[in-house]
Amino acid sequence: MIEVCVCERCGHAVYPFRHVCPECAARAWRVEHVDDGTLEQATTIRHRIGVERRVPNRVGSVRLDLGPVVITRVLDGAEVGARVALAKSAGAVVARPLSTRPLRTCRGSDPRT
Ligand SMILES: [Zn+2]
Repeated sequence: MIEVCVCERCGHAVYPFRHVCPECAARAWRVEHVDDGTLEQATTIRHRIGVERRVPNRVGSVRLDLGPVVITRVLDGAEVGARVALAKSAGAVVARPLSTRPLRTCRGSDPRT
């Protein structure tokens, strides 16, 4: 879950936090808790200048339903175009695939009943 700020005056959502709304210049915000979004793009960084250890790092952009795009680390299994769960880890936002467990929609399909 991440916290997105929504302007109290015009409803514009921003991430990360800003002191002034870029749409209406208001300074009053409310916080919305966001659990997921849509992975729009992803790429793998294999080389970094000045870093000897080469550990691939997958990063991507996730579009929130409120509008902002968040740059995240992307864990294995998250596919472009799919919904991903968002969490903070060591100060960074991480996207992981949402559970693909099927929903139980029919009465009697639960083995406990
Ligand atoms: Zn505003």
